[in-house]
Amino acid sequence: MKLLDPSLFKETEEGLALVGQKCRTCGKIAFPKKRVCPACFSDDLEDKLLSKTGTLHTFTCTYLGVPHLNPPYVIGFVDLPEKIRLLSLITDCEPWDEVLQVDMPMEMVIDKLMEDEQGEDVYCYKFRPKGAADRK
Ligand SMILES: [Zn+2]
Repeated sequence: MKLLDPSLFKETEEGLALVGQKCRTCGKIAFPKKRVCPACFSDDLEDKLLSKTGTLHTFTCTYLGVPHLNPPYVIGFVDLPEKIRLLSLITDCEPWDEVLQVDMPMEMVIDKLMEDEQGEDVYCYKFRPKGAADRK
């Protein structure tokens, strides 16, 4: 599986998880990983696996395409328990279904994002309403 950015992920027993960093000096958790802590500039950092579930902070439906996404598609901000706010594509719900609600529980999935120049599928994280049925 080709990932858009392998540095964002770590293989776990439950599959791929997002990996950020935790500052050993002040405890700040950051994602994606940075060279130093964004809160205290310490470079004493450790990997920190992020939760695969969070809540939907806000979302919008986009009708103008970018080259690798077919409109309409939904993007949103998902808040993780680690106080990380992720911008993410929202999947497994059509924009016109009106199922999305602010503060609803969301779960991360690894999903196809686009094809690269060679036609190979490229995957990235997305979020979907928790418990949404798999589309496959
Ligand atoms: Zn820090």
